Amino acid sequence: MTYNVTLIPGDGTGPEIAETTRKVLEATGVKFNWDIQHAGVDIMEKAGTPLPQNVIESIRKNKVAIKGPITTPIGKGFRSVNVALRKELDLYVCLRPAKYYVGVRSKYENIDLVIVRENTEDLYAGIEFEVDKPETETLIETIEKLSHRHINEHSGISIKPISRACTQRIVRYAFDYAIKYGRKKVTAVTKANIMKFTDGLFFDEARKVAKEYAGKIEYEERLIDNMCMQLVQKPELYDVLVLPNLYGDIISDLCAGLIGGLGIAPGANIGKDIALFEPVHGSAPKYKGQNKVNPTAMILSGVLMLEYLGEIDAAKKLEKAVADIIREGKDVTYDMKLDRNDPTAVGTSEMGDAIIRQLCS
Ligand code: NAD
Repeated sequence: MTYNVTLIPGDGTGPEIAETTRKVLEATGVKFNWDIQHAGVDIMEKAGTPLPQNVIESIRKNKVAIKGPITTPIGKGFRSVNVALRKELDLYVCLRPAKYYVGVRSKYENIDLVIVRENTEDLYAGIEFEVDKPETETLIETIEKLSHRHINEHSGISIKPISRACTQRIVRYAFDYAIKYGRKKVTAVTKANIMKFTDGLFFDEARKVAKEYAGKIEYEERLIDNMCMQLVQKPELYDVLVLPNLYGDIISDLCAGLIGGLGIAPGANIGKDIALFEPVHGSAPKYKGQNKVNPTAMILSGVLMLEYLGEIDAAKKLEKAVADIIREGKDVTYDMKLDRNDPTAVGTSEMGDAIIRQLCS
């Protein structure tokens, strides 16, 4: 069987790691028909938009996509292409496993956490009102009238919607994932003691869903501030974490730190019948064109894609090849060396070649 997959190289260092990932995935023996589509700052000038419609159409048609990171300029210009893709395609699950591989430079060992982040709501939904705009003034007046609370002059406002339906579906996904992959516990994480009507609702709905899995999967709740400390002090106590969008974003970087950095943290955005795989990290633009950054996060995102496609043997073989190369510690990029200036560090494509040699040995 040949799989039609949309491949979005992205921008910054994206194209380098995407090309390496493509070669590695092909070396598994699984057949792909790549539909290469461009999005991000590099296509912006030519297409007039960082997210041309044909990219979305290609993903809708193929139902599976893998992408390199895409830059989001801070505070101005276009909104995040990554957020737009997740919303447009209703990819409501952001799945981010955080697993320790022997040989990685990290203060922690034996980490095997899975972050299930809600991907469509919360402060991340992008409903924002700019300071001093007439609509912002109107909104502030309305809120003051309805809540009898004062909002400071010259304020910007971001809205945090959290719904019953979207909470239930993300928590259900976390429990189903736990059952499918033999996990023991789901921990829901919010700041419900302060944000009672949004994060409080998230806990309420999570508890209802948890009841359906009682006796099969354990359920517990933590507050996000306490969770940060617990993850730093005793990460081994946790298993599957389910969180609203913003906390999930932050906690997945924290967990990437526990397993040795963003260079090895994979991710997937999953909807009802479409999935888009991408590394957790961004476009690391300062290294663009240098064949320097670590391709592992995107290659492991490819492992998640193989699992999703049901190519379990290929997924296991590829993950083992990556783990072997990391354990050996020879053909790895600068970020995986004890000394970041170690001259024996290899480049992006050379690390990919070493993984291919290991796969084929
Ligand atoms: P970043 O992830 O690009 O980089 C953060 C740090 O991690 C940098 O020091 C970088 O050198 C290092 N790093 C990242 N990837 C690495 C890799 N593969 N190998 C080795 N080191 C690596 O985060 P940033 O600098 O905050 O963001 C850069 C741009 O990427 C921003 O515009 C941001 O919005 C965007 N971004 C995109 C995505 C995505 O496409 N899904 C995700 C996060 C950030």
